[in-house]
Amino acid sequence: MNFVAEALNLSKFSAERLFERGILKKAFVKSEVFPDLIDAYRIEKKFGIYEEGTVVIKGKDGLKVVRGFPKIKRILALEAGIKKHFGDREIAVEEKMNGYNVRVVKVGNDIYAITRRGLICPYTTEKVREKIPVDFFEEYANFMLCCEAVGNASPYVADHYGIEGLEFFVFDIRDCRTNVALGIEEKERILRRYKIKAVEILKKCRASKVEEIKRVLEELNSKKREGIVLKDLEMKLEPLKYTTSFANCSDLAYAFRFFEEYSRDFMLARIIREAFQAFEFGYSEERALRLGKSILEAAIESIKKVKSGEEVLETNRLVFSSEKVYEAFKMHLKLLGIAFRELEVKKSERGLEVVIARVMRATTDRVKSLLQGNTW
Ligand code: ATP
Ligand code: MG
Repeated sequence: MNFVAEALNLSKFSAERLFERGILKKAFVKSEVFPDLIDAYRIEKKFGIYEEGTVVIKGKDGLKVVRGFPKIKRILALEAGIKKHFGDREIAVEEKMNGYNVRVVKVGNDIYAITRRGLICPYTTEKVREKIPVDFFEEYANFMLCCEAVGNASPYVADHYGIEGLEFFVFDIRDCRTNVALGIEEKERILRRYKIKAVEILKKCRASKVEEIKRVLEELNSKKREGIVLKDLEMKLEPLKYTTSFANCSDLAYAFRFFEEYSRDFMLARIIREAFQAFEFGYSEERALRLGKSILEAAIESIKKVKSGEEVLETNRLVFSSEKVYEAFKMHLKLLGIAFRELEVKKSERGLEVVIARVMRATTDRVKSLLQGNTW
């Protein structure tokens, strides 16, 4: 662990203490997908300037600190929030895509994919190598591509876009060590030059053009998209996020389908977001019905499942290039503490096709018990 101390400017003793306290954890499982890695640790909880998800990598080509992706603050009152944070500056309204956060970095001879909490994911790493040109990193060796991974081959988030496989949409280019982000227009130029997919910039305008921003959001809502991230064109101020009614409701459906796995806070936050949006954009029966349905229909579905003798599951279909990558991915899920079941494994011309399911034990047990007449 000496290299962690060296990279973060800590004493060897402090690094060991962090490890004992569970703040510093292993960031990867051994795998042939990771030939350039000698060792890597991640920071589980923000300490000092280092965000949660920061990774320290000892690679064949030296040490690398990859800072965690910063939390984006959310506003609930769109107009007041925009005015308060951005005044009348020039901003970009970017689409907020709903997938999982991936930082792509180069270590040694190849690129590596790090997920939000700082784990180097074997599955995602294999996919980024198919999709992201390594030549970007020849010019920008100390930078990372921060992107959203979406598609029907996502192991962590269901697909909302009709994307086959897994695609990576870059939203920030940041310096790995300082976490400083390039300005929006420079980012756009670079991504265009390297033909790297980016999240859509829906609008660039002065922050005072709130009516126009509201229209962008309504349009996104009708297309069943998640929301927007508002960014200072120069990336000097912190970005803000705001989600559509569709996203609030689909989160609620998810949370109520697996109501024992999800916290009360998660549910309450989404209901309150929707209340603020109804207040600002207008209450309607339609909005009320959408909210109510997303809660009730999802919960009833789980009750019906258990009633018919099944378990409440979340299933995912994934494709791996080889047996070995799949083995590494299973180890990786164990490291994350995710219990899962293999439902189907078959070889096809695409590789190894696997259907795995997360068993929602707590919800299943609770529903079963309540259906038997037990009290809550
Ligand atoms: P946090 O707010 O800490 O980032 P969270 O899990 O609550 O975490 P979300 O509500 O999903 O996150 O919103 C932030 C996430 O949105 C980012 O971490 C990023 O993965 C994703 N995202 C999608 N599109 C964009 C975009 N255009 N710009 C920035 N982030 C984006
Ligand atoms: Mg998200």
